[in-house]
Formats: sequence, structure tokens, C-alpha cells
Amino acid sequence: MLVFSSLMFPLTFFFLSPFVIVISAVNGLLNGSAIVFGLLLLFSMVGSRLFCGWLCPGGAVQDHISAANNRHWNSNGKNLSKYIIWMVWFSFVIFLWIKNRPLKVDFWCFTDINLQYFIIYAIVMTIIYLFTLLTGRRGMCHSLCWMAPFMIIGEKLADVLYIPRFRLKAKPEDCVSCGKCSRNCPMGLDVVEMVKSGNLDSVECINCLECVDGCHKKAISFGIWQKQQQYKNFKT
Ligand code: SF4
Ligand code: SF4
Repeated sequence: MLVFSSLMFPLTFFFLSPFVIVISAVNGLLNGSAIVFGLLLLFSMVGSRLFCGWLCPGGAVQDHISAANNRHWNSNGKNLSKYIIWMVWFSFVIFLWIKNRPLKVDFWCFTDINLQYFIIYAIVMTIIYLFTLLTGRRGMCHSLCWMAPFMIIGEKLADVLYIPRFRLKAKPEDCVSCGKCSRNCPMGLDVVEMVKSGNLDSVECINCLECVDGCHKKAISFGIWQKQQQYKNFKT
């Protein structure tokens, strides 16, 4: 699915673009990217970050590059920058939306394929390649992604509203600490420690299920649970 998604990126590019949202907002328009980002927030309230693990073309491109730099890139400090970038960008977008209201909805605006399109696409691809090459596994997801905060907000909203959503569940008693799950995790999470603590909730988890597939002891499973239900199930 990720390979297919990366091949489709030249076509889906302008529906995942923070830049086009700004240009549209300047012109008093609510465009396709803004609608897609809103839908991703809603989807994450049930599907958590399945989009990131299974469909995101930017994630797919990063996975290809991890063959060249497989370093883990995950810490609170490294993850913080994406929230700062997102807050500055989204505050500016909201300012433009308020200033240019009432907004007209135009899903297809600024999606013409022309020379400008190819230049912007080439710039974005270069940023994704270089950034991931210089950082490590899914470095952009950790430190730069402008879509991740929407989905993390969706996850948090679901938890506050007791909406069941997609989660991983651990059986620590079955874990033999082989470390395969941590080695396989594209987000560089310390999955072994998470399994041992019985808590696999992490806003950085992209629900790719590499850890589930790789665990020969079947110590990790997945399903749709409320936060509290997950722990109740785990304890019983
Ligand atoms: S792969 Fe399974 S058994 Fe090995 S450390 Fe991870 S959870 Fe434990
Ligand atoms: S913890 Fe498991 S599901 Fe989450 S990102 Fe890592 S390998 Fe994927």
C-alpha cells in the first residue's frame, strides 16, 4: 500500500500540502488539502495513525530512504519541533481564514499541473529526501510533519470523549525480550520497554503493525478499544 501511495504522490501531492492551504486561504478559499487534513483528524479519532503507517506517501518515501540511513530518530526534543512548526503555520492559516471570511469551498483549486507544480513538487521531494537522509528513520514524521499534529489531536480527543480507537495491546508475560519489535519499528520506538510496561500507547506510533508481525511470541496484538478498556482487558 505504501509503495502504491508513493507512486501516486505526484497526483495526490496538492491534497496534502500546507503551502496550498496558505495560498488558498489568502484567496478566501477552503481547498482540498484543508478538507483532507480535517478528515484525517476525524478519521484518527477511530483509526489513530493508520494513515501514517499504511497510506502516507511522505512516509513511504522516507521508508525507501531508511535503507541509506537506518538510525533511530526519536526523542522528546526531536519530536517537539513539529508541534512548534505546526502551531506557527496553523495560527497563520486561521488568521487568514478569519481575515478573508466568508470562505468559499473549492476542493480542486490550485491543482493545475504546470511548470510551477513540478518545481514545487521537486522542492518538497528534495526536502523529504535530504531531511530523512540527515536525520534517520521517519525523521520527517518525528520532527517536521505538518499532518501528524492533526492526527495526534484526533487521538487525544477520542480519549477525552471515551471513543474507542485503534490501539496496540501487550502481553508482557509472553515477551522474551528478543528486541525484534524495537529493531523493526520504523519510528524507532523502544517497543520492548513499552511491552514490558504493558502500555503501547504512544503518539509517535504510526500503527504500521511491524511489531505485531515480527513478534514470534505473539506478545503484541491490536484492536479497537477505549483507553480504559484496553487496560481492563490487559489486567484480566
Ligand atoms: S518481538 Fe515480541 S518477544 Fe521479542 S521483545 Fe518484542 S514483544 Fe518481546
Ligand atoms: S510501535 Fe509497532 S505499530 Fe507502532 S510504529 Fe512501532 S512498529 Fe509500528
